[in-house]
Amino acid sequence: MSDTWNTRTKAVHAGTRRSQYGEVSEAIFLTQGFVYETAEHAEARFLESGPDEFIYARYGNPTVSMFEQRIAALEGGEDAFATASGMAAVSGALTSMLEAGDHVVSARALFGSCLYVLEDLLSRFGVEVTFVDGTDLAQWEAAIRPDTKVVFFESIANPTLEVIDIEKVSALAHAHGAKVLIDNVFATPVYSRAMQQGADVVIYSATKHIDGQGRALGGVIIGTRDYIHKTVEPYMKHTGGSMSPFNAWIMLKGIETMDLRVKAQAASALALAQAVEGHANLARTIYPGLPSHAQHALSKAQMGAGGTVLSLDLKGGKPAAFAFLNALKIGLISNNLGDAKTILTHPATTTHQRLSPDQRAALGITEGLVRISVGLEDVEDLKTDLLQALG
Ligand SMILES: *Cc1c(COP(=O)(O)O)cnc(C)c1O
Repeated sequence: MSDTWNTRTKAVHAGTRRSQYGEVSEAIFLTQGFVYETAEHAEARFLESGPDEFIYARYGNPTVSMFEQRIAALEGGEDAFATASGMAAVSGALTSMLEAGDHVVSARALFGSCLYVLEDLLSRFGVEVTFVDGTDLAQWEAAIRPDTKVVFFESIANPTLEVIDIEKVSALAHAHGAKVLIDNVFATPVYSRAMQQGADVVIYSATKHIDGQGRALGGVIIGTRDYIHKTVEPYMKHTGGSMSPFNAWIMLKGIETMDLRVKAQAASALALAQAVEGHANLARTIYPGLPSHAQHALSKAQMGAGGTVLSLDLKGGKPAAFAFLNALKIGLISNNLGDAKTILTHPATTTHQRLSPDQRAALGITEGLVRISVGLEDVEDLKTDLLQALG
């Protein structure tokens, strides 16, 4: 691969390992083990393996390596480790770095499972976590201490779509020697410049836009070669959260079309947000690409676009939200996102059901809030569907 390649060239070619057959489409090496020519070779490989030498699929596999190299090239990271799911990536990145007595500062607005890891799990192992309003720099500044080891946030919070300033929060963290870990799912690898903006580690649920067609679970941790090899790899390969070679192949093929898909979905998300904003039955239309969004300018500077997800707050709370969802003819009621199919979720009763009403209120997850992951359908059909259901 050439470092001068632009993103779409890397998305199609980076990381390719061709076998002796010269296949065009990446091969699926559906094998968990690898044969050594001699006992001496086995001994040598366990001591130190080269880039094309594998031991066991939990440690690494040629198809999985292709995916890791391709996403690392796209993100501008030195290396990557692919995981069984997005949550294996979030929990693996955090637990591999932390030990009892460490301090973490995290944004409060998080995906439900991320909140479980940070709020319930880490505290059981003696890690102290301070939660802040991620959009308030003064709160980050007050919470980050000389002994803070990790700063964690979703660059766009699920499902309230608050945008966090990666450059400014990273500068505050780095001033105290803390590492910045970003769950960058909503920004997508297409709009991400997180590494250049200050992130030390970028995490994706590959289940979302990387697959992009709702087929397989996966995740990935991207960082420096040193961090991936010395911190993440020993932890992941011994605790078992590695990606399946078959899923890695699905993700590789997904990345090839990701730029086209995500840009089309983001264009439709903007068109839909513009079409429904101000509707009589809506209390609020939340989309970072709309000038009415509190971090509109930041989202433009940080990502160059508003992303593929918008949220609507319906007047009339849960009954109105449910009536709206049940009236849809194209949009599906489900909880994935980044899919080719438009998917709508009622966070208060599904993804964020586990939170208390007070916690939900603090995060702005009202009873009327509906999250829309915009798909690849014709945007005029989607507009008609949303407007008839809103009516
Ligand atoms: C979906 C999601 C995850 C978890 O990913 P899985 O692949 O479902 O494990 C983590 N963070 C965010 C922001 C997500 O949207």
